[in-house]
Amino acid sequence: MPTSTEPANAHVVLHNCTVLDTEKGALVQGQNILIAHGRIEKVSPEPIHHPAIQAINMNGTVVMPGLIDCHVHCVASSLNLGQNASLPNVFATLKSLPILEGMLYRGFTSVRDAGGADWSLSEATRTGLVKGPRIFPAGKALSQTGGHGDFRQRNDLMEPCACSQKVGSISRVVDGVDAIRRAVREEIQKGATQIKIMASGGIASPNDPIHFLGFSEDEIRAAVEEAGNAGTYVMAHAYTPEAIMRAVRCGVRTIEHGSLINEKAADFMAAAGAFLVPTTVTYEALARDGAKLGFPAASVAKVEAVRSAARLALAIAEKAGVQVAYGSDLLGETHSYQADELRIRSKISGNAQAIRSATTVAAAVLQQQGKLGVIQPGAMADLLVVDGNPLEDINLLLGQGAHLKAIMKDGAFVKNAL
Ligand code: ZN
Ligand code: ZN
Repeated sequence: MPTSTEPANAHVVLHNCTVLDTEKGALVQGQNILIAHGRIEKVSPEPIHHPAIQAINMNGTVVMPGLIDCHVHCVASSLNLGQNASLPNVFATLKSLPILEGMLYRGFTSVRDAGGADWSLSEATRTGLVKGPRIFPAGKALSQTGGHGDFRQRNDLMEPCACSQKVGSISRVVDGVDAIRRAVREEIQKGATQIKIMASGGIASPNDPIHFLGFSEDEIRAAVEEAGNAGTYVMAHAYTPEAIMRAVRCGVRTIEHGSLINEKAADFMAAAGAFLVPTTVTYEALARDGAKLGFPAASVAKVEAVRSAARLALAIAEKAGVQVAYGSDLLGETHSYQADELRIRSKISGNAQAIRSATTVAAAVLQQQGKLGVIQPGAMADLLVVDGNPLEDINLLLGQGAHLKAIMKDGAFVKNAL
């Protein structure tokens, strides 16, 4: 039931829209859309007459569903994740607010947070307390000692890590099957909508080469079982074919990055029905701006190993029939490149498929098919009004939302220049 803290959801009719059908990758002209109580109630070529409504003549302008980014870190206000983790909690929270607002104004009305954001941020944007996208938070990503979520330096004491209490930390260190079970239960209890694990080495962390495997198979299976018990799933950071196949074999549902995937691993993922969430744009941003923006030197050196492989990974996965969803994984000042992943995808897969990755495929990742990523009755009223046809010109969706004439989230306009 709506509460008094939720944004007002008046009835709105958008007359004469050209609707972008994300599944078909086609435009449908002459559509009228009725929006009420935050949902799309009706999409019809027949005129919609409704009392007590705001009616807007769209004159054939393109309307598409809000974009979905399946891999973000809302609290990553710094490129140095170790420093980010040591920010005082209130400051870390405040620094995430402009990041959230930026995402929304770029047209991303839903995001899946891959480590850092929690129930509080999700609730703050849901209720309109804070401007930002709908957030599906993973809470703290789980990492083994020395893994991709362990930002302690080599000379730090290996005493219990305070990471789980730090707002600015994207992850927490946990080792052993029982400890994993407890950590998953805690993150679920705190409001995580899915569980994130670090199943291989990575770039942004100090002491874990990319080829390292994260967690034992027993630990991964324990995380998958506990997530499954709560009706949800595990997303795993994994780069190499070995790390990818091992995670999928243990029941992981979505592979994050996957930049070094080969045909064998791609076939394995496709057969298992696992999703791939590549994050190509972050490597480009880090290679270009990382050093000058304070990305640690040890991490800058790791970027090149995956940057060139990442574009290839996308093509390999799509050829094998893996469902590929949109991810950006940007940190600190590079968040402004969030929509640039669309440009990279469109060059490899075409505009329609790039848009699909950020709408219908992303909605499947979120287990929100029919509710997000589409304009149809019953879907949440997250809409973008675009100044042109993005199936022909993907640039209309790039940058900071300059070509979005209006953005609606949950049936309320957050931008309206109509
Ligand atoms: Zn990662
Ligand atoms: Zn990430």
